[in-house]
Amino acid sequence: MKRNLKSDTVVIKVGTSTLTYETGKLNLKRLDVLSRIIADLQNSGKRVVLVSSGAIGVGMSKLGLAVRPQSVKEKQAIAAVGQCELMSIYDRIFSEYGTIVAQILLTKDVLTNKERHENIVNTFNTLLEKGIVPIVNENDSISIDEIKFGDNDTLSALVSTLVDADTLIILSDIDGLYNKNPREFSDACLLHTVEEITDEIEKMASGAGTLKGTGGMITKISAAKMATSAGCDVIIANGSDPHVIYEILDGNQIGTLFKGRK
Ligand code: ADP
Repeated sequence: MKRNLKSDTVVIKVGTSTLTYETGKLNLKRLDVLSRIIADLQNSGKRVVLVSSGAIGVGMSKLGLAVRPQSVKEKQAIAAVGQCELMSIYDRIFSEYGTIVAQILLTKDVLTNKERHENIVNTFNTLLEKGIVPIVNENDSISIDEIKFGDNDTLSALVSTLVDADTLIILSDIDGLYNKNPREFSDACLLHTVEEITDEIEKMASGAGTLKGTGGMITKISAAKMATSAGCDVIIANGSDPHVIYEILDGNQIGTLFKGRK
């Protein structure tokens, strides 16, 4: 049976594990397919926002660093290098498909500061009206704990509320939410639809994520909670082949759907 998804405004979040190879370098093939699909969706009249991780990974690879530094100032400096490189790559790829992109770097105070909130909503809307794809990341270089989202799953849920998205697609290195961590339990089963995020659902997500990723399933579930309560449908799916985005928007039973509370 097909899902009935509204998808005029779509937010797509990709994690580091989807964007990079085991070597830590960018998976350019995947990035290219992802960008082409987003450009195509934009051409078809949809409003699309991309939330992209990867700045620290790209920065490390540009600076030739094999080990992730521990100090905050080092990480912030590397993120600044990587963000610039990452956007330059997105800009080049999207340009090939005739699509303009814009960089949006956010801190959590857009939630609490009324003026900043209003400004960012206006910026998003203006970009989307002009057919430009906003590419969003946390502003790592200035983010201290008080103003930090901490992970891009949470950030993607906030962005979904800011642009009043119909659907949030979180692309990860796993097919969706399983009833227990499939990396530990071979008999874990994929959940196709979650009507309501109960305590039981949250418990299922408690296993740790991969080394490269940041939040694991826990942050994805709390992001789903935030976005669904704003009425947005959320799908967690495997981003290894970004063509799943078409399948998802066509209503095929891909990944796990968390139904928006309308
Ligand atoms: P990303 O970089 O895409 O954000 P993460 O590594 O942060 O990815 O999160 C995905 C990981 O969460 C999975 O690869 C898996 O190891 C882990 N995980 C823990 N519990 C579950 C679960 N119940 N269902 C699916 N994945 C789970």
